[in-house]
Amino acid sequence: MPPVIDASRCIGCGTCVEICPGDILAETEKEPAVVYPDECFHCGACLVECPSTAISYRIPLPMMLPVFRLDFFKSEDI
Ligand code: SF4
Ligand code: SF4
Repeated sequence: MPPVIDASRCIGCGTCVEICPGDILAETEKEPAVVYPDECFHCGACLVECPSTAISYRIPLPMMLPVFRLDFFKSEDI
């Protein structure tokens, strides 16, 4: 899912727009707009760098499956 920006927390610093490697976000007069939501590849840069924790998103389940599988193989090694 694309990032969701909480307008009540956003201070309009523009950091997320600058840092997004996919140019998915764009500055507006208020909080940034998610202009290409389908192009977001969930790198987490905007979420980590936002100084006011205004950004959240849910990682799609298919992207989480490899993590679970790695955990599975780790437990097999023990
Ligand atoms: S998660 Fe990454 S690709 Fe998606 S909007 Fe944030 S910085 Fe851009
Ligand atoms: S980095 Fe956070 S506070 Fe700054 S413009 Fe983006 S959402 Fe708003």
